[in-house]
Amino acid sequence: MQFDSDYTMTIGGRGFEAEATIDVINPANGAVIATAPRASKAQLDEAVAGAARAFPSWSAAGVEARRDAVRRLGSKLVENADALARLLTSEQGKPLADARAEILGAAYWCETLATVDMPVVVVEDSRDRKVETRRVPLGVAAAIVPWNYPISIAFLKIPAALLTGNCVVVKPSPYTPLTTLKIGELSRDLFPAGVLSVLSGGDELGPWITEHPGFAKISFTGSSATGRRVVQSASHTLKRVTLELGGNDAAIVLADVNVHAVAEKIFWSAFTNAGQVCMATKRLYVHESVYDELAFALAEYAKTVKVGDGFEPETKIGPIQNRAQYDRVCRLIHDIAERGERVLIGGNVVPGAGYFVPVTIVDNPPEESPVVQEEAFGPVLPMLKFSDLDDVIAKVNASPYGLAGSVWSSDADAAALIASRIHSGTVWINDWLYITPFTPFGGRKQSGYGVECGLEGLLEYTGTQTVAINRS
Ligand code: NAD
Repeated sequence: MQFDSDYTMTIGGRGFEAEATIDVINPANGAVIATAPRASKAQLDEAVAGAARAFPSWSAAGVEARRDAVRRLGSKLVENADALARLLTSEQGKPLADARAEILGAAYWCETLATVDMPVVVVEDSRDRKVETRRVPLGVAAAIVPWNYPISIAFLKIPAALLTGNCVVVKPSPYTPLTTLKIGELSRDLFPAGVLSVLSGGDELGPWITEHPGFAKISFTGSSATGRRVVQSASHTLKRVTLELGGNDAAIVLADVNVHAVAEKIFWSAFTNAGQVCMATKRLYVHESVYDELAFALAEYAKTVKVGDGFEPETKIGPIQNRAQYDRVCRLIHDIAERGERVLIGGNVVPGAGYFVPVTIVDNPPEESPVVQEEAFGPVLPMLKFSDLDDVIAKVNASPYGLAGSVWSSDADAAALIASRIHSGTVWINDWLYITPFTPFGGRKQSGYGVECGLEGLLEYTGTQTVAINRS
């Protein structure tokens, strides 16, 4: 099955076009594949008003009714997985198998988050009084989503907001609105009108949302620079804010590692989704005694990995998602050459219609080099030699970011001790990106605040309400 090429927003349970549109581009060839509505301010107002009207009955509907609806949304994703995956690859660029996994992962999140119970804490139960604290929804939430994982990230937010009794307005990135718009369309008969809205728009839509007095909550995933603007704008009405922002995650590879066993995993920790992962390994610190062996293994493995159009079956790494990001990554690669830094592989971008960047591994650049200090958000990885563990931990922690990281060693207990010294929200040992609906994740420092997933992630969409009954 293939979807028709009309894309409409979902507002108050119905489909809407807009007077203006946004061109959506396939990053594998630069062609415009569709246009998406560019929401007006009035349409945002209508979505918020519709959500506010739906809120009283949705929040009172009871958790089982909400769970049923969220599970049905998950089932819709499974039923339409092939068509949604194709659409996702055409607008995002990622390999089709990865796009399909993203759709099915979102369905799994709906199914699994629906099993999490909200706590009710009995603070006092005496002859004179009963006092209990429960969790209540906030009202209308906004889910603001970036372009690297348009569906996975939207579905960290949508089920969590809805299960806890909020209504939600979803705003995909202007670069990747199509799959989210189709999911909005598929959801229209699953929820009461206004409970789940999807609005696509230009650069003006995000700021309109964060300043809109009708939102009680903003769940934002994107860059740290935008995150700062979100907080400023949301402060006017003191909205609750969750921020999942950028990172410059480090992997530390210890001397006792089995290079043969870990090389492939380390490779994909940096290059999955063409490196466009907030939690990708963006600095690879390797003990000097295994540096050469790992460098050789990574470079050899890279030669077997096809970079190309996500629709070609052998492709493992797709293009950079958009022109602006492609230009940023190309500048970083150009800068590597300018600075006389050596690469183990890659380093030469061949210009063309698609935004393709080869896997590029930089050979022990200086710590202060931009490729080490900046979040590349592309398939460019600096590999750095270390000899002193304290020194490398200090370098890892010197980053203004604190999203995640990993430690690679044959001694998992020793690695776990090192993990406890790393200032980030998540650390994996001999692993990467192990995230489940039950593992809360979030950043420290300028990687954001608040968490997603798990009970803690759901609680972010609630406030506490203490009810104290005087029995005397
Ligand atoms: P971005 O900050 O440019 O945009 C993110 C979203 O915010 C988009 O929907 C965009 O339209 C919207 N937006 C832009 N300006 C806004 C404003 N002033 N107010 C409100 N919304 C606004 O980020 P991006 O380039 O789409 O994504 C890449 C960044 O996202 C990277 O830094 C990456 O590390 C980060 N990211 C973080 C996580 C995480 O979980 N921590 C996950 C994925 C991506």
